[in-house]
Parts: sequence; structure tokens; C-alpha cells
Amino acid sequence: MAGMAAHGESDLRVETFPKVAKQGDVCLVRASGPASLKSIHGEFQGERFPIAFNNETGAYEGLIGIDVNTSPATHEIKVFVTDGDNRVYSSILSLRVEKVDFGIQALSLPPSMVDLDAKTLERVNEEARKLEALFRTSRNERLWKSVFIRPVEGEISTGFGLTRIINGQRRSQHTGVDLRAEEGAPVLASNHGVVVLVDELFFSGKSVILDHGWGLYSMYFHLSEALVKEGNLVRSGAILGRVGSTGRSTGPHLHWGIRISGARVDPLSLLRIGTLSNLTNNVRQKD
Ligand SMILES: [Zn+2]
Repeated sequence: MAGMAAHGESDLRVETFPKVAKQGDVCLVRASGPASLKSIHGEFQGERFPIAFNNETGAYEGLIGIDVNTSPATHEIKVFVTDGDNRVYSSILSLRVEKVDFGIQALSLPPSMVDLDAKTLERVNEEARKLEALFRTSRNERLWKSVFIRPVEGEISTGFGLTRIINGQRRSQHTGVDLRAEEGAPVLASNHGVVVLVDELFFSGKSVILDHGWGLYSMYFHLSEALVKEGNLVRSGAILGRVGSTGRSTGPHLHWGIRISGARVDPLSLLRIGTLSNLTNNVRQKD
């Protein structure tokens, strides 16, 4: 009978890495302790996120994205477990999100790229709607493996989160990183995924977007050329296209962006998470 206590709620421990998050961070959520477990998932900001067993750490793990504009406050992460006796229980973890001063960047661009006429504005809004809809359709299976890689070698020319002052006016935030690269340099897939968009967008120019599953997307903008088609399955390191300066760009570079369940996060934060190679797609039944 003493064994019954092992199934209790107190057995489920949840922690995050990093322990305190910053705006734009990717956070690893790790749950340990649940015995005889049938299913497990998490919830953050009203969105469900998958959690799976990692052989390497012996714990259940999932990823959440802290959007660049998440309010600096304490937020709740909930983890729900169904045990072997079909009892559902949950654990709530408070995650503090700290404000980041991302800084500002002043740019001069041709007025036609900034003060949009009605027709162009309509196009830009339509493209934004299309992308937001796309980020809601991620597949349930996880396609990424091991670590994410930088799509080009170059250093960062413009960091994540900067507020743009364009031609003297405050504009949108920079929600990816710009990597220095020569025109024509190959752009590599950050990880395994499915090509879900190849298009020419007003701001982003020639663009490729990969769905890595579990709500995780990577974006590659301003290409001179795309070398993949929508629907293609690509492996980590596959050549997606070539660096260019298409769309609203001041010179050849790669804009690399990451979304997790819609949250706009710093791609470098995803690199810092390191390896999740042993996450299995299925929940492991413990004896
Ligand atoms: Zn950029």
C-alpha cells in the first residue's frame, strides 16, 4: 500500500532552463518523477505544447517560446499528466520573464519601402495574415533531431529584438537575426523539416520557411534564389537557397527567424538549448 504514494501529485517535479527567462528566450521545460505515465503535455499562455521522454536526461522535456513582447512578469507553465490508473493531475510552475532592452537601430531606406501606398499595404497585410495562419498549422510529429545549426557561417550584423527607426519614424521590431554573408552563399536548413513556404514577399523578399513540427518554424529571408519547393522534406544542413538582398534589405545578408507556437524568439537562444537528440516522439511507459 505504501507504493500508492508514489503516484501522487508531489511526485511530479517541473523545472525550466533557463530558470528565469528573458523576452525572446527559448525555454526547455523538464518534468521528472511521474511513474506509470500514460500521457503528458504542457500549457503555456493558453497554448498546449508537447512533452516527450528524453533518454539522455531520463526526464520528460518540451520547448516553449517566450515571445519578444511577453510582459515582464511571472507566468504559469502547467504540466498535465495521466497516470497508469487514468488519474489526471497537474503541476504549475511559475516562470519569471525579465524585460530586455534590445536597443534601437536607425535605418535609411527608399521612401517607397517605408511609406506604403494603399495597394502595397494591402499586399503586406495579406502576407502577414498568410504567415500567421501558417504558424498555426504545425504538424504534431517532431521532425527536428539533435542540435539546430546556423544557416550561414557569418557573424550577426543586426541582433534580435531591436526597434527600428526607419527614415526617422519608429517602426516594427526586428524579430530575427541578420547574419553577414556574401551574395550567393548557400543557406542551410537549421534542422530537419518540411518546406511549407517558398514565396516572394514584400518585406522579406524571396523567402523559405520550414516546419520542424511541434509548433517550431525556421525562416530564411532576402534570398537571391530558393532551391527547394513547398512540400520538400529537407535534412539538417541541406541547401535551401542562396543569400541575396531581395525585399526590404540594405545589402546581401540572411535574415533568420524562429517561431515556437507563434512566439517570436531569438534563434541564438534555440542554439543555446543544445541537444534534444534523445527526445522520443512517444511517451514512454514506465513500469
Ligand atoms: Zn533581419
